[in-house]
Amino acid sequence: MSESVPMTEPKPAVIPFLGLRPAPSATRPRDERPGIAGFDPAALDGWLTERGLPAYRATQVLDAVWRGRQATFAGVLTLPAELRVPLDQAYRFDTATEREIRATDGGLTEKVLHRLSDGLLIESVLMHYPARPGARERHTLCISSQAGCAVGCPFCATGELGMERDLETAEIVDQVRHAARLLAAGGKRLTNVVFMGMGEPLLNLDRVLEAIAALNDPRRFGLGARHITISTSGVVPGIRRLTALGPQLTLAVSLHAARNPLRDVLVPLNRRWPVEEVVAAAREHAQVTGRRVTYEITMIEGINDTDADAAALADLLRDDHAHVNLIPMNQVAHTPWTGTALPAVERFAAHLLEARVQTTIRYNRGTEIGAACGQLAAEHAGQPTPAVVRRRRERIVAESAAALRGERSQEPVPAGVGER
Ligand code: SAH
Ligand code: SF4
Repeated sequence: MSESVPMTEPKPAVIPFLGLRPAPSATRPRDERPGIAGFDPAALDGWLTERGLPAYRATQVLDAVWRGRQATFAGVLTLPAELRVPLDQAYRFDTATEREIRATDGGLTEKVLHRLSDGLLIESVLMHYPARPGARERHTLCISSQAGCAVGCPFCATGELGMERDLETAEIVDQVRHAARLLAAGGKRLTNVVFMGMGEPLLNLDRVLEAIAALNDPRRFGLGARHITISTSGVVPGIRRLTALGPQLTLAVSLHAARNPLRDVLVPLNRRWPVEEVVAAAREHAQVTGRRVTYEITMIEGINDTDADAAALADLLRDDHAHVNLIPMNQVAHTPWTGTALPAVERFAAHLLEARVQTTIRYNRGTEIGAACGQLAAEHAGQPTPAVVRRRRERIVAESAAALRGERSQEPVPAGVGER
């Protein structure tokens, strides 16, 4: 790490999140200037040509946007002022208006809260993995694709926030550019991007694919698609679209339960695309692309961690080209649930391994700063009243009790997800 590299970013100190006021929904109109990072080189070429500017300026602008250390157009001194000023009038260099950073795990996890131009808050999490024997150093960024989420998984802080809006392409990639600048200041490079922050990426797939194209493009960010993972709660048409794209991206499916009654409650879009359809689409993805699919199980004490659940999962995935990650649930305020304790997780894993289903036990990074998806933004949305929390808990307990008796949910498919 070089100390002499100039820092152009606000100092990434560990600061309390006091500066940002709660923003459960947009508080002001959106800045209408598009984010420059959402544009492909052809659009930029067109903008320059219209103004009679030379083509080499496009490369300079792209370098400043994607490789530079600067956080504003004004700082990009490789560009003449005659270009910087009109660029700034037409485009936003960065779509976040404020950021706050919290570090934990001895600095190995950095949680970033980004305020967007309309006041909404989204999160990303930067995780540092030091080199160890047989594995190189990695720096992985977990990013958001939506502000809020329509799917409404009851154990998820984002789900409880509800859906605000889809992120623009630039709002997605600007999380990555920010992390890259932070890392560059320490002489490091971002190695992996995972769509596991706020939102359901396959319900904002056009923009997510544009963002991935920008991240892949050697003229822009230049990150290989193999280093990008998309996590989905099971949007079957979206999985099929990814399959058609070919073998590049890594697919993770948030399964959480192998039995429909329970999955209807834990992942409400299961009422639209039931577990067997989700696994069939994921299996086809693995067959067509040759890439192993990862299934995530967030383990909730006494709910989805029983021997019967392990047996159902083993039956579902036996002989598949798949890998299961077991992750104890992070505590979130509005649920009555706790994460499964280690002995029960190990027992579950043993059951799967016995059925020759590859399984790993993982831990959420940064639990003490609320690093599970959406937890920090939810904190900022203000605490629900005790009466609201009590009603939510009663509903969750009643729904999960019915599910554990094997009854399918009578609740509707969440709005914005599609009809049953
Ligand atoms: N919407 C997508 C991607 C974002 S969520 C999806 O659901 O896959 C990313 C992951 O965070 C999911 O696997 C989700 O199950 C997990 N997650 C959400 N809340 C959690 C919590 N309280 N504890 C542990 N994992 C959680
Ligand atoms: Fe949405 Fe994923 Fe959270 Fe479910 S777990 S509510 S799909 S962000």
